Amino acid sequence: MPDTIRTAPSVTRKDLFHLPDGVIYLDGNSLGPLPKSVTARTQAMMTDEWGEMLIRGWNGAGWFAQPGRLGDRIGRLIGAPEGTVMVGDTLSIKVYQALAAALALRPDRRVVLSDSGNFPTDLYMARGLLELLGDDYELRVVAPEEAAGAIGPDVAAVMLTEVDYRTGRRHDMAGITRAAQEAGAVMIWDLAHSAGAFPVDLEGSGCEFAVGCTYKYLNGGPGAPAFIYVRPDLADVAAPTLQGWLGHDAPFAFDLDYRPAGGIARMRVGTPPVIQMTALEEALGVWDGVAMTEVRAAAVALMEQFIADVEARCPQLTLASPRDPEARGSQVSFRFDEGYAAMQALIERGVIGDFRAPDIMRFGFTPLYLDADDVTAAVDVLETVLRDELWQDPKYKARAAVT
Ligand SMILES: *Cc1c(COP(=O)(O)O)cnc(C)c1O
Repeated sequence: MPDTIRTAPSVTRKDLFHLPDGVIYLDGNSLGPLPKSVTARTQAMMTDEWGEMLIRGWNGAGWFAQPGRLGDRIGRLIGAPEGTVMVGDTLSIKVYQALAAALALRPDRRVVLSDSGNFPTDLYMARGLLELLGDDYELRVVAPEEAAGAIGPDVAAVMLTEVDYRTGRRHDMAGITRAAQEAGAVMIWDLAHSAGAFPVDLEGSGCEFAVGCTYKYLNGGPGAPAFIYVRPDLADVAAPTLQGWLGHDAPFAFDLDYRPAGGIARMRVGTPPVIQMTALEEALGVWDGVAMTEVRAAAVALMEQFIADVEARCPQLTLASPRDPEARGSQVSFRFDEGYAAMQALIERGVIGDFRAPDIMRFGFTPLYLDADDVTAAVDVLETVLRDELWQDPKYKARAAVT
């Protein structure tokens, strides 16, 4: 490995996070850890705002404007201009919303193109929407490497997740967006494994829509709300299929007819989860003064160290992620037939990653709270688990509900 990669400047700010003693956390790609200040902030929100202000909090504590305020803050991390990102609901809902708006922009076309590397809920939500729209709609799912070439003249929307949740393979966002638009299709990107992981140039990509979640690399906490981006020129045009009252032009006029709000506000649906929004708002503070390019450089250094050390010391594992860091997000996956049991054995020894069926051991790299010493210590444990076949213990083989 070139020294320049190993010596990327550190962006570590471990003191900002609650990290349990004895744990090396390699699963921030699935659920980010708790930023310490979130506890006091949410506590204060509950006592001072909900407790004392009651209903007055919607105006007085800024709850009503919070989803848009948070959208702007996330926008800065993903290359989206002010007023183009709205926070709310869950990612599954935002996928549905984006896809419905995309299809409304191409009423003469009937095909949604996605790939088999997409996260299942994206495909499920698409299927549910298409079933509702009628028999002539089709969800076409191709292999990830075939996606760009499969965008034909019948494709209304291309809906892809930039980083594959299993392998970490990363799509060429700009290139595929261009191909989609040259074929007359609308482009939707899911940034679930991109936002907070590396620099994203949403505006530069030219894509029409993007969605993502905030409990992975953005550390918003379990169940933290999702976000949706609409390209500025479409903000007043995009059809809000989920016509909730808070996306209305005048929610407190209580009209019987729906009239979409101008701009990104039309992507609001109903009452936001204010406690969770407040946790997210506070959690985003860990990014203040951090350059995403430096986060990326540090993540690449950690990943290259991990791959080199695992390949040298754990011959039982096979790399499942692209070897070229440019073609990878911020996770590294290895295949191992007994991956589930091996991951349980690792977790019991304080090294937390996760497992994705059928045989993927997945490790996330999040340099804000992970450094080179952590990677070295994690590989030590991994080597022991594999060399001594500690995963053979039957207790590691019983599958829990969440893997
Ligand atoms: C994590 C993830 C989801 C999860 O959706 P929720 O509605 O938040 O449960 C959806 N899509 C992708 C691509 C993901 O990585």
